[in-house]
Amino acid sequence: MFSIGLTGGIGSGKTQVADWLAQWGAAVIDTDRIAHELTTSAGAAIEPLRQAFGPAAITADGRLDRGWMRDRAFADPDVRQRLEAILHPLIDQAVRAQADRAQGPYRVYVVPLLVESGRWRDRVDRICVVDCDPATQVRRVQGRSGLTPETIERIMSAQASREDRLAVADDIIVNDGATDLDALRRRSWSCHQSWCELASRSSHGSAIHD
Ligand code: ADP
Repeated sequence: MFSIGLTGGIGSGKTQVADWLAQWGAAVIDTDRIAHELTTSAGAAIEPLRQAFGPAAITADGRLDRGWMRDRAFADPDVRQRLEAILHPLIDQAVRAQADRAQGPYRVYVVPLLVESGRWRDRVDRICVVDCDPATQVRRVQGRSGLTPETIERIMSAQASREDRLAVADDIIVNDGATDLDALRRRSWSCHQSWCELASRSSHGSAIHD
């Protein structure tokens, strides 16, 4: 099935865009949401994480303590690598299961670190970047999560730069500080239409070759 990799920095608006694409019928597979589910209580990652990082990594009600984990992963590349070695195979497994069930004109994989990880680029037909200026990212994430500007900036500095993302984009949805939700919706809709068109052409193409 024709597939889009949807990415963008924290607070760029990718979840908002993905929610509309899902409403319009695309099969949306959100790797961030999957990672959250794996690390809530009874999630499949909890026991391996407890084994690897000890009981302090898990809250009293059985979830991953994200703040605790984030601080350590930022401070120590080895911790980050061990964390990824646990999470990535579980995420891949859940992504594959969702992709197998996917129905719709095309698939959208929402991958916050698509540009950084490299392992996603070959799995998608096109990369769409939701683009935003850093000051607006900080403002939006503060409004959504209550994280401090320092924490948000630290997360942003560990992510690819705006330029690196734009360099690999096939499609760009501008969602900067001057963009209201109506404009974002219109831009998302026009991408959706062009992807439906490309998806139908690519499925006709393979029918001819078969
Ligand atoms: P991401 O998934 O990229 O981290 P979100 O889609 O969650 O970002 O957007 C971050 C926050 O900003 C959300 O609360 C969202 O509703 C809001 N938001 C995103 N784009 C706009 C916009 N153009 N105007 C107003 N609020 C926006």
